[in-house]
Amino acid sequence: MDEKKNELFYQPKNGYDLIDAKERLACEDYCKGYMAYLDAARTEREAVSEAIKLAEAAGFEPLADGAGPIKPGQKVYCSNRGKSLLLAVGGKKPMSAGFVVEAAHVDSPRLDLKQLPLFEDTELGYFRTHYYGGIKKYQWTAIPLELHGTVALKDGSTVDVVVGRDRDDPQFVVTDLLPHLAADQMQKTMAKGVEGEKLCVLAGSVPYAGEGSDRVKLAVMSLLNDRYGITEADLISAELEAVPAFDVRELGLDRSMIGGYGQDDRVCAYAELAAILETSAPERTAVCILADKEEIGSYGVTGMMSQAFERFIERLCGGVCSVQESFSRSFCISADVTAALDPMYPEVSEKQNAARLNYGVGFCKYTGARGKSGASDASAELVGYLRRLCDDAGVVWQMCELGKVDQGGGGTVATEMAMRDIDTIDAGVPVLSMHAPFETTAKFDCYMTYKCMKAAYDAK
Ligand code: MN
Ligand code: MN
Repeated sequence: MDEKKNELFYQPKNGYDLIDAKERLACEDYCKGYMAYLDAARTEREAVSEAIKLAEAAGFEPLADGAGPIKPGQKVYCSNRGKSLLLAVGGKKPMSAGFVVEAAHVDSPRLDLKQLPLFEDTELGYFRTHYYGGIKKYQWTAIPLELHGTVALKDGSTVDVVVGRDRDDPQFVVTDLLPHLAADQMQKTMAKGVEGEKLCVLAGSVPYAGEGSDRVKLAVMSLLNDRYGITEADLISAELEAVPAFDVRELGLDRSMIGGYGQDDRVCAYAELAAILETSAPERTAVCILADKEEIGSYGVTGMMSQAFERFIERLCGGVCSVQESFSRSFCISADVTAALDPMYPEVSEKQNAARLNYGVGFCKYTGARGKSGASDASAELVGYLRRLCDDAGVVWQMCELGKVDQGGGGTVATEMAMRDIDTIDAGVPVLSMHAPFETTAKFDCYMTYKCMKAAYDAK
């Protein structure tokens, strides 16, 4: 019977039972690079600028206009307004044969400062925020925060702001009520216990010397002016993000996991970036996308709905074939994280089809909610192709779905890629505490996701 079971049953195994010492070292090595990237990339803009640094070091050059179709082995990139990045390595086959595209996103949930953020209450200075993406608001109180972003001045120049990253820099916090006085708050639901308008970032407490009102607000503005030369009106044309200040760390006594902010989805962004930086002569042109605005629906000029993607592909085609012709023969991995089965909350998952830590890169045939509403739903043929591709390349993978039926759901950029007539499937790293200020992944899964991304670019 055992023999028959082995022959007929699908039996996923813990990844550590499947790799040797050499591969474990390769995994550690890869994760060091990922952790350094994650530590440096706290916003979508920083994720793009850090990626450009790595790409240029690997020989990628800005895509020039009117240069004709991309040549075999040519390495190019194009920054979309500094918030999203497109990279390509020319294939042996022309763009009319289609391309292999991997699309991840580099925006993460956070607290954005409002356009008029600064105020004073009871002689304490604050920044008002409007949260970005899906957050559990109570998780964002009483943790250290940093301020990152860009201020656009009226003369067209910009000033980059980073406060809190350096050891000697001050940091910020959103305060929460002490338990002693939280009897009323504790009666509320977790959704309402901390309200959005109460997510104000404490910015200072010392008043400006002299008489009058708003002395603390003035002192805070004065410090910003000293440091960055800006005024309150300049904050109107700014994008400032309060993000968790935690360092990226190894987790567990065995150091097998990674803790850090923004792993959704910089963990997959780094995997496909690392893969394309090592790609030199692919069969079909390799394209890597680090998209913005996924967490708020992929809208906007830097989101995956933007025609900036068509424009990039049009330039790679160089007039030799149409963008649509190229799209129709292409293959896309929508590289985004998935929910890992949490043994503390097994009730939200259906165990047989849930992703598990250390079981490898997770393929999601579909995402969506309720009756798969809003899903792209990859074809059986495409899932079959990915199985073959990964098995041939020694990639450990698992099939998964985001939570049990009718528990909730989610989406990725898969829908935006599929609507362009590109065959698309979701694949990515399983995450614990997704969208929390400090997310957890397993090194093994991060590494296998990278191997999956590399295998797709290397496909013959
Ligand atoms: Mn994501
Ligand atoms: Mn997300």
